[in-house]
Amino acid sequence: MLDLLITNATLPDGRTGMSIAVQGGRIAEVTAGLDAPAHEKLDAQGLLLAPHFVDPHFHMDATLSYGLPRVNQSGTLLEGIALWGELKPLLTADALIERALAYCDWAVAKGLLAVRSHVDTSDPSLLAVDALLEVKRKVGPYLDLQLVAFPQDGVLRSPGGVENLERALDKGVDVVGGIPHFERTMADGAASVKLLMELAAERGKLVDMHCDESDDPLSRHIETLSAETWRLGMQGRVTGSHCTSMHSMDNYYVSKLLPLIAQSGVSVVSNPLINITLQGRHDTYPKRRGMTRVPELMAAGVNVAFGHDCVMDPWYGMGSGDMLEVAHMGLHVAQMTSQAGIRQCFDAVTTNAARVMHLEGYGLEAGCDASFVLLQARDPVEAIRLRATRLKVFRKGRLLAETPAATAALHLPGRAQATSWMSRSS
Ligand SMILES: [Zn+2]
Repeated sequence: MLDLLITNATLPDGRTGMSIAVQGGRIAEVTAGLDAPAHEKLDAQGLLLAPHFVDPHFHMDATLSYGLPRVNQSGTLLEGIALWGELKPLLTADALIERALAYCDWAVAKGLLAVRSHVDTSDPSLLAVDALLEVKRKVGPYLDLQLVAFPQDGVLRSPGGVENLERALDKGVDVVGGIPHFERTMADGAASVKLLMELAAERGKLVDMHCDESDDPLSRHIETLSAETWRLGMQGRVTGSHCTSMHSMDNYYVSKLLPLIAQSGVSVVSNPLINITLQGRHDTYPKRRGMTRVPELMAAGVNVAFGHDCVMDPWYGMGSGDMLEVAHMGLHVAQMTSQAGIRQCFDAVTTNAARVMHLEGYGLEAGCDASFVLLQARDPVEAIRLRATRLKVFRKGRLLAETPAATAALHLPGRAQATSWMSRSS
């Protein structure tokens, strides 16, 4: 007897009428039209069953702090960093944990069950590190939280930067971070990349650096990050986040850079909501979009994922943990409006993001964890268009969240009563 049998589901790859059999928290079988005895049965009614959403870039130590102690007036990255500096001395572990747990509740409700969060290691007290390690323990039964040691003030620029980051790793933080474009000079930035890469290689850690989050076409730390990845044999273990300067780079230089990133097996995480908000702020008109070259990176064979980055914090006042909103913005800013392009944007918040995090047991195949989302949509394109309701969210076969279908009851003069949820086969 199966634990759970889902029937008549559509999968992201387009297969319809699929049954997913679940036993012991894992997917036992994925077959068309299977019927078998099960403790629980769920008819998906032709709707989309997708592996859960994954956010490969977030800042959980700052989330839901919007307005503390004030709001970012200029809307720039640099005022956001300054504002975070004002907030840090006021942080308490209890308040930080309460906000992070509240955000994780939102995430689970939106089918987002794995988050890679950077945690600022600049403060020698490591208050945020201890708090997020506590959050990671607390949410462990329902959400995979992976932490990145992130030296927000610059690992070389801030006193004790390297020591504090190493202490965070000693405490159990998973991934080595960095912020080379915020070091004092380009040379210091490159030195920080080299130093942090060697540290990660020594400790056997994954790497995820904020890289070139700037409109400066000469900010080229992604080049150093890729070359160091190659030199140290860390292909597949390193991610460059943001890489917004690539938007403004010279095309000839990019034609040399793209193959280097691809050959080094470096993943790129773009954060569309934040990039379109923070970049281009020094421009008059025309204003640059500032997002990295997503379709070109993908075409070059680079694994590209989309992150949420911020929700209601010193950098961004919007957001709700909805990775479909992230994909929706990503496809607009990157102009990935073909059917194939939209599906790539869906992959960017699911499978590609899972690859960035090295998630085990991810996917919709036999043997994978039974962790998936039933969406009120007929395919990935409609899911993004509607930012579809997450009808059911399962993790390892257990139902974690349910949301009623979003359906409007229409009372139109001269028309019979009707309902609509804006579905139209695409
Ligand atoms: Zn970030």
